[in-house]
Amino acid sequence: MFFIVLHLPFSKIWLRPPFLAARRSYKLWLLEKTLWSPFSMSTRVAIIGAGPAGLVLAATLAKKSSAFSVKVFEQGADHKAAASYDPNRSYTIDITGHGALAVEALGATELFDEKLIKFKGLRILITGEDHWFDGNGWTGSRGDICKTLLGVIDEAASPNVEVLFDTTAEVLDMMKGTVQTTSKAGERAVHEFDVVVGADGAGSKLRGVMSKLPSFAMSSINMENYSIMLHMDQNTSELDPGLLHIFGTDPFLVAGAINGNGGKSDPLWFCQVGFKGLDKGKWLQEASLKDLKTKLKKSGWPKSTDLLRYVSDKSLQEFQARMPQATGKGKMVSPWSHGRCVLVGDAGAPFPPIGQGVNCGMQGALVLGEALVEGLAPGSGPCEVAVTKAFQAFTEKWKPEADAVTDISALTDVGKFTNPLEVAKTLVLTKIKCGGVQLAKDATVTYQEALAAHKSGVRMLWLFGLPTLVSAGAVMIYLAREVSLAAFGLRLIQ
Ligand SMILES: Cc1cc2nc3c(=O)[nH]c(=O)nc-3n(C[C@H](O)[C@H](O)[C@H](O)COP(=O)(O)OP(=O)(O)OC[C@H]3O[C@@H](n4cnc5c(N)ncnc54)[C@H](O)[C@@H]3O)c2cc1C
Repeated sequence: MFFIVLHLPFSKIWLRPPFLAARRSYKLWLLEKTLWSPFSMSTRVAIIGAGPAGLVLAATLAKKSSAFSVKVFEQGADHKAAASYDPNRSYTIDITGHGALAVEALGATELFDEKLIKFKGLRILITGEDHWFDGNGWTGSRGDICKTLLGVIDEAASPNVEVLFDTTAEVLDMMKGTVQTTSKAGERAVHEFDVVVGADGAGSKLRGVMSKLPSFAMSSINMENYSIMLHMDQNTSELDPGLLHIFGTDPFLVAGAINGNGGKSDPLWFCQVGFKGLDKGKWLQEASLKDLKTKLKKSGWPKSTDLLRYVSDKSLQEFQARMPQATGKGKMVSPWSHGRCVLVGDAGAPFPPIGQGVNCGMQGALVLGEALVEGLAPGSGPCEVAVTKAFQAFTEKWKPEADAVTDISALTDVGKFTNPLEVAKTLVLTKIKCGGVQLAKDATVTYQEALAAHKSGVRMLWLFGLPTLVSAGAVMIYLAREVSLAAFGLRLIQ
């Protein structure tokens, strides 16, 4: 083995080829861990989960400091080897605004431009309007995004950051930062860390451990929203992959492109078919092909759209065989940290998808990374106290933002779109630039400001819309009465 480790009194210098830094075998990592741990002067950070949030945090620590020794444990296979899409759940994610801020802070704009489809905006086919997006943005599947973020970590070539795939991690003691890891082959090991980050997604196990604390509180929302993916498999070269396409509202149809086998120049298209209640899903799945086509054709309000032009009968049949995914569930969790452990991304704030899960998770991870870099700088005091302070700084800055996203998502229930008045309200809010979902994509506005603007937009609509509706109704009744009186008079004359 040709790497050399020098132990110096107050620092640790690791000399080994950078290509070994990012991913090594589990056995080698265990060996190094055993050899080096007692001498380590750097802050040992475990990140559980290599999703977008975990990877942004690892990249932030890799780029901004050499004071950390970071291990990322991911139970799944290496993103670079795994397929970047799964037709059952390959929704198109746009990285815009808050997510793009994280990409820019990591100096990764060029890499994202190179690897992912550039996001240009929304094509709302039901009104025939395009909304162009200013600023940096990209679209891709979660797999595309994770692959690109791994590239950012590779580029940083930090010997202090390692990503271990096929490794499940479990927190045994939150106060001591004790983590048990299990390799795919079943090898187990127990380690201690100064900081343990749960970036383990919506079903977070670390959140489950925290939930046993007496101080733990959690509120949940469940809007009974579901979605099933529909692969668009024909004529898609006519579509612009840089645009998310809104094809319909009942069911809600939003389509977008992700990288295909040939990368971004070979896009694959998926449409997320969203609806409220499993009964509706059952209907969509059990309907005859003819009825399903009629339903999808009529989904567009105010205008019908031509989604079916892009979908073969075979793809519709595959759609009918897929399991619906729950997309209306969210949780608000408090506290986010305990002892040496902290939650980030979906683990701390899972909310129904409104295009912000990845974006909010990425910026949240950046904020956590910066809080750790700042709070655990050399000379920052006793480690436990510094860790607690860094967690507090992160929570104070980011929790109100994540909570605001949950509130925005709760205001935008897909079930409402079965009601033309709700569709009209959303379209008007978008037009007057007060729509929470639209504003959440703008990094110059905080999520809390986007929520406040949405609420005041709705109040304005009530304030001006209600009197207008009442007066229009009164005029209609008056006219109807006059017309019928005139008709009655005419009949009398005749
Ligand atoms: C249908 C649907 C549509 C969506 N659409 C959008 C969208 O348009 N835009 C958007 O921004 N977001 C969207 N989202 C949400 C988005 O996918 C998530 O918000 C995002 O992936 C969260 O990132 P994360 O890193 O926090 O968690 P995850 O992406 O869930 O990553 C967590 C990782 O932790 C790993 N892990 C879990 N437990 C362990 C363990 N014990 N040990 C080791 N590893 C572990 C998992 O394997 C996983 O890789 C959508 C979600 C759904 C379901």
